[in-house]
Amino acid sequence: MKIYLNGKFVEKKDAKVSVFDHGFLYGDGVFEGIRSYKRNVFKLQEHIQRLYESAHTLMLKIPLTQAQMIDAVVRTLKSNHLSDAYIRVIVSRGEGDLGLDPRKCQGTATVIVITDKITLYPQELYQKGMAIITVPTVRNLNEAVNPQLKSLNYLNNILAKIEATNSGCMEALMMDAQGFVAECTGDNVFIVRRGELLTPPNARLRGITRDAVMELAKKQKIMVSEKLMTRHEIFVAEECFLTGTAAEIIPIVKVDGRVIGDGVPGPITLKLIKAFHTITSKDGVKY
Ligand SMILES: *Cc1c(COP(=O)(O)O)cnc(C)c1O
Repeated sequence: MKIYLNGKFVEKKDAKVSVFDHGFLYGDGVFEGIRSYKRNVFKLQEHIQRLYESAHTLMLKIPLTQAQMIDAVVRTLKSNHLSDAYIRVIVSRGEGDLGLDPRKCQGTATVIVITDKITLYPQELYQKGMAIITVPTVRNLNEAVNPQLKSLNYLNNILAKIEATNSGCMEALMMDAQGFVAECTGDNVFIVRRGELLTPPNARLRGITRDAVMELAKKQKIMVSEKLMTRHEIFVAEECFLTGTAAEIIPIVKVDGRVIGDGVPGPITLKLIKAFHTITSKDGVKY
């Protein structure tokens, strides 16, 4: 496996960063998870744009232009002869000292591209639907660590994941501090209510898969809107599913022990999954 590390391709065993890298010491950095389908990197430009926006807020200078970063992703895929892959782009603050002051990271940011294969949940759950559970850890506050930043500091999500696992579930539903539904640990949430597709508004991470699904729904003349929702609205929904680059679209059939709809993946969910797979190998950057 060839890994892109600061402009060079190295073997997995040689892909090492300093213990003084602030990405390691403090989670000071940004990342993207991207997928390619049949030699097409789905929505690559949108992912790279979001990476640079996260970095901008962190005042983290990426030593590559967006075009160069796109090229690095494509070259990594080609070096590994992958036509379908999961791609992780990581930019960390780089090597500093033991203090957290980013100004001490005098060199350039560390840039890494890893291409591999992952399926987030067992394949059978994509057919049968998955059960999720609400966890006590609330999603980060916008005014603290804004969830819009796709940062390396992922403890908020990891705590939630641990709590879901402790309760025997594979995924956690997180509320915001006001008690409204936020999102899952790496996925956005959708419900279908009276035939209309609903998702919480933009206060959380604005998923690229989320945007793509909303666009597909509009094309199929399904009504879509962003709406604050509580757990009750999920419990009484006809359908529920999660979206994310790693997860793709996964049907949810049980939330906190309540069966959603008929307890099987619903017709709108199945329609959107089908539509999604027709665009994944078209919409993006080909290589
Ligand atoms: C990346 C991520 C998502 C999904 O976003 P996509 O752009 O669809 O991959 C959702 N929630 C969190 C917390 C994430 O980090």
